[in-house]
Amino acid sequence: MSDRRIRKVVIVGGGTAGWMTAAALAKVNSPPQFEVTLIESDEIGIIGVGEATIPTIHWFNRLVGLDEAEFLRETRATYKLGIEFAGWNGAGSRYFHPFGRYGAPADQQMFFHRWIRADLAGQADSHQDYSLTTVTAMAGKFGPPTNDPNSIFSTLGCAYHFDAGLYAAYLRRYCEARGVKRLEGKVEAIEQHPETGFVTRLATHRGDSVEGDLFIDCSGLRALLIEGILEAGFEDWSHWLPCDRALAVPCERIADPIPYTRATAHGFGWQWRIPLQHRTGNGMVYSSAFASDDEAADGLLATLDGKALADPRPVKFRTGRRRKSWVKNVIAIGLSSGFLEPLESTSIHLIQSGIAKLLSLFPTKDCPEETAEQFNRVYGADVESVRDFLVLHYKRTEGRDEPLWRHCQAMAVPEGLAAKEANFTRTGRIVLSTDELFRDSSWFAVMMGQGLRATDYNPLLDSFPEADNKAHLDRVRQQIAQAAATLPSHEDYLRRLIGLPR
Ligand SMILES: Cc1cc2nc3c(=O)[nH]c(=O)nc-3n(C[C@H](O)[C@H](O)[C@H](O)COP(=O)(O)OP(=O)(O)OC[C@H]3O[C@@H](n4cnc5c(N)ncnc54)[C@H](O)[C@@H]3O)c2cc1C
Repeated sequence: MSDRRIRKVVIVGGGTAGWMTAAALAKVNSPPQFEVTLIESDEIGIIGVGEATIPTIHWFNRLVGLDEAEFLRETRATYKLGIEFAGWNGAGSRYFHPFGRYGAPADQQMFFHRWIRADLAGQADSHQDYSLTTVTAMAGKFGPPTNDPNSIFSTLGCAYHFDAGLYAAYLRRYCEARGVKRLEGKVEAIEQHPETGFVTRLATHRGDSVEGDLFIDCSGLRALLIEGILEAGFEDWSHWLPCDRALAVPCERIADPIPYTRATAHGFGWQWRIPLQHRTGNGMVYSSAFASDDEAADGLLATLDGKALADPRPVKFRTGRRRKSWVKNVIAIGLSSGFLEPLESTSIHLIQSGIAKLLSLFPTKDCPEETAEQFNRVYGADVESVRDFLVLHYKRTEGRDEPLWRHCQAMAVPEGLAAKEANFTRTGRIVLSTDELFRDSSWFAVMMGQGLRATDYNPLLDSFPEADNKAHLDRVRQQIAQAAATLPSHEDYLRRLIGLPR
């Protein structure tokens, strides 16, 4: 039996995906059963964007046992309570996608029906007033979610913004302290077993060579092993997600960092703003079919709120996914497995999703086909559900009439998304499968924000008078306003936690 056990794992790539995978393996491989070697090329470098996360990041940080204050200090991180979408339904439009839940703790999904009932009766305030996370974010405040299920603070949700370069360096130190071996060099030669086609050895331009039983391809958009050698194939989704370029530029911090990302729609794409402790990350994501690189750069530089700290850095990409992320003894994690554009900051989550599945399906040396198929099926379903959520933003932009947005308004959407929209508008229900990443609060926020409206609610609510429903909502709104008022500013909370004087 023991000769079937994996003894050597080789990771190609030292970006966020490579070091996160190495950290997770280092943590679970104790005492060590196998060696972990990571090869990265300083000459190629990392993509260096990817600074906003979603709440599932807490799963990873807990898995590897990161101390929150140290993590925030080392990566110059800030908290992220959600994303503010500006201009997605025309000039002046604005909505917030909060990471927490709506309503009081006990309301759960019934909140949506209560609110829709009041709205249809012309009695509701903005649904955003019933989200503690949104009210807290808009006030520039912060508080962590509590575990007490009866507390209104349990409805909060948060993630982080961090410096991608510092994060990779921080994880590298963590990994090297736990025995992960790092090799610097550009992989130039790849050997395969003559019969099975399994990858057996990699050699770098410096002459180093590494044998392995299992290879994790974290080589970014290059997809060195999974596509370059094993030709896994690519499913192109650019007909749904047409942006294919980005320009990234950091600028000086001009004020205390706000606890959320801002995504502002432009005529040819959208712009991100990610506040960190020491600088602000910015970028323009656009479609080359609808704008030139110069137009995008001008649009980006003209709207920075601080002095640019570098020239805009271009990135080209294609939205879609690898047809198979696990082929033979190679598993692609990170950009090598596909890319869904950064609108909802989901790539780091998908890295974690790949890591979680790798750990639960960790193979023997023969990498059984059934195991690879299982990985490809469940990982594929994750990616598709994220895709549908992103497509919703592009499709429902009735207030905009530039060519890019008119093109998206006219496109046919994936079936699953069409069914979700129809269900919501007809019944007020948000129908999800159990393992979808974005839950009902996220779908409600974005469907409402992008202009969809429900025309009915759960009929069981009619068992009590409309006035009682309104009184409940009023109480919840007040409770939320009072709770938010007790919280410190985001900047004060951060400084206290990481031990920095004001
Ligand atoms: C514009 C943009 C914005 C984004 N914003 C977000 C965001 O806000 N949130 C989010 O979650 N994600 C975001 N992402 C995605 C995120 O950047 C990536 O998922 C994340 O950085 C992981 O990248 P990676 O490690 O897969 O690839 P990379 O960072 O590109 O790393 C690839 C590694 O492979 C190495 N390598 C490649 N070829 C070789 C070779 N031949 N030999 C040796 N080494 C090699 C490189 O040296 C490097 O170390 C964004 C992506 C883009 C394009």
